[in-house]
Amino acid sequence: MKTVTATIKPQPSVPLDDVILHARRAYGVEGEFHAISAERDQNFRIESGARNVLMKVCAAGEGFALAEAQTLALQHIAFTAPHLPVPRVVRSKAGGAVTALNHGDVDHPVLMLDWLSGDVLGDAAPAHFKHLGTLLAQLGRALRGFAHPAILERELIWDMMQADALRTHCHLLGKAWQTRAEAMLDHFTAETRPHLRKLRAQVIHGDAHPFNVLLGPHGISGIIDFGDLVHAPLIFDLANTIADCVHGKDSFTDIFGELLGAYHAESALERDDVLALVPMVKIRLLMSALIIEMRSAAGMGLTQSIGAVSTTSLTTLDAVIAQEEKLTAHCLHVTGHGPRPAMADVMQRRLQAMGRKPWLFYSKPLHMLRGEGVWLHADDGRAYLDCYNNVAHVGHAHPVVADAVAKQLRVLNTNTRYLTDESIAYAEALKATLDPSLDTVIFVNSGSEANDVAWRMAQAFTGHRGALCMDFAYHGVTAAIDALSPSNYPAGKWQFPHVRQLTAPDVYRGVHGADHPGVGAAYAAMADAPIAELQNQGSGVAFAIMDSAFMSSGILDAPPGYVKGVVERVHGAGGLFVADEVQSGFGRMGSHMWGHQRHGVVPDFVTIGKPAGNGYPIGVIITRAEILERLVAETGTFFSTFGGGNAACAAGLAVLDVMRREGLLANAQTTGAHLMQGLRGLMQRHGIIGDVRGAGLAIGVELVGDRKSKVPLRAETRRVLDLMRDEGVLIGSDGRLGNVLKLRPPVVFKPEHADQVVNALDRVLGRL
Ligand code: PMP
Repeated sequence: MKTVTATIKPQPSVPLDDVILHARRAYGVEGEFHAISAERDQNFRIESGARNVLMKVCAAGEGFALAEAQTLALQHIAFTAPHLPVPRVVRSKAGGAVTALNHGDVDHPVLMLDWLSGDVLGDAAPAHFKHLGTLLAQLGRALRGFAHPAILERELIWDMMQADALRTHCHLLGKAWQTRAEAMLDHFTAETRPHLRKLRAQVIHGDAHPFNVLLGPHGISGIIDFGDLVHAPLIFDLANTIADCVHGKDSFTDIFGELLGAYHAESALERDDVLALVPMVKIRLLMSALIIEMRSAAGMGLTQSIGAVSTTSLTTLDAVIAQEEKLTAHCLHVTGHGPRPAMADVMQRRLQAMGRKPWLFYSKPLHMLRGEGVWLHADDGRAYLDCYNNVAHVGHAHPVVADAVAKQLRVLNTNTRYLTDESIAYAEALKATLDPSLDTVIFVNSGSEANDVAWRMAQAFTGHRGALCMDFAYHGVTAAIDALSPSNYPAGKWQFPHVRQLTAPDVYRGVHGADHPGVGAAYAAMADAPIAELQNQGSGVAFAIMDSAFMSSGILDAPPGYVKGVVERVHGAGGLFVADEVQSGFGRMGSHMWGHQRHGVVPDFVTIGKPAGNGYPIGVIITRAEILERLVAETGTFFSTFGGGNAACAAGLAVLDVMRREGLLANAQTTGAHLMQGLRGLMQRHGIIGDVRGAGLAIGVELVGDRKSKVPLRAETRRVLDLMRDEGVLIGSDGRLGNVLKLRPPVVFKPEHADQVVNALDRVLGRL
């Protein structure tokens, strides 16, 4: 680790004639030379015709490597953020960025920079805090890829991380402050600095105070003086600026807020960065006071940039200390890192604003703040493994999907009344995954809407009015589809004369077990009666709708031949078949892209929802041209404003792209098999598990009193969900009897996540 010897080094004092000679010989620059006051270097503004330049003669001890680092940093910024108003490097006649001026037998490094015009911002800063905060953030970002050994190794008296090197000078502050200052530095070294070392660090400007910022006619026109470049926590730059802006003031909440707010809006700060801010401002103020006194003790005057006198720094420091808690709370608030409101308050607001029946998961509801991949981060500070959400299909907040949507929203988001590239591309991409007979793609906004439109088309096409759905099905919320969703109703309350339920092909609990000969055909034959009923009452069969994962019915393993048998019967009755792929689609079932493909059927409609946009609302109906045309012949037109919008289609295309790139169909298969194996393994130890079934990453675990009686354990199932939540794993439940654990994670789930689920369930079932 570098050790800083905190001493004030004298400025070079090269005679003007030598400087003029060097400028001419090395750079070909001539003109009027004006000396400028500076802390360490000997600086000259040279008025040279149309072009003004700044010549910096550095102290010999500063080293050529450091001078070179400064020029490289400026070139780096010119490359990464050309719009930033920082000086450009003027090269010597020989092409170098740094030259040597020999004086008194030592070589002084010399730099020549373009002169940036403008007055120093100084006390005019308050009107420009927001711009200053933004520029500082941009400067930090511009420098983040830059490194140079001379900067990593440099000794710098202003380096806050080495503030303890100033401890031996505390007596210069006078008796009253000496002990306080020493205690502050000791506390900083022992308590604060270890935290600062964990913050994001990089090369930063190191001295971006208002006297190193220039003001032009249109606002801030320059950031100058890159002589204090240092490798330090990123937040150090903002702390310096704030410290120098609050200097001499006694009320500073707004100063902190404006500079920090603008910085954070441009470049998001982490909570730990923000927590470091006030402690850093305090240390900077103390360092300013000490260095002023050290300079004065060394017989050197004050520079403009250091500001007034040390007593002002100390008075300001006192005021900051007095307001420390308030300031920290304000900084956290401004950056959105403030304390979260109490759960009870959030719940109260929710009940008042969104209806008195909260419909929340788990007895202890979760307040979610952020998602990432398979994780959901709640306001209790925990990350929960999401083994339930099939909307975030390729993972929460997937950057490829998020970027695709954001990018599209900035370019164009309109509707399918225009020719739009994204809608055509998405329609083609979906069609490519399906049977060629499904040749027409219609865009809407949700699974419910897709099913609703399919229902209208089926009626128009067949002329029939009756429908078939699965026992305890769920297909959506619209009036028409609610009738096809018996799971929306309490037992015995569902009754719609034009709809009949099909007997669920439940080989665990139903009339036929898996070993029944021709079990699939036997269950399919049970469709005959409801079809006949619909025909006898004059409704006929317009369509049968089916989720081939049988998710709401308890994630059933439909026996081979079942779905095919039903489809044949529906077609035989002149009806159409809807494969509702909201649950089973997009590779969730592992073996195929679409659930119906596992069952070897070609539907008349495929309806798509939830996972399609990974959270961006998308609904799709894919059918045959003749079916759409029949509806349009009746209604004259069909159009859903948001359906097929450019941003929605960009999201849909991104999901397909991510699936392909990340091999997620295969992942659903292999991770699903791993999860299934782990869960089946638990059956040996936990008699409460009656059945484990499903495919890919759609798995049901049925809980029973014992395997013989199969008494469904509804209350225990709810308790398992709560206990799993406490274990940090989110799962759901489903099925007519409410006793099937539903495991349906994003398809980016990996075997290690599956292991976590299995181990948590093992512990939970052991505790029941
Ligand atoms: N169909 C099925 C099989 C579903 O599971 C759902 C939603 N859970 C829907 C349709 C309705 O989709 P949405 O909520 O997007 O309207």
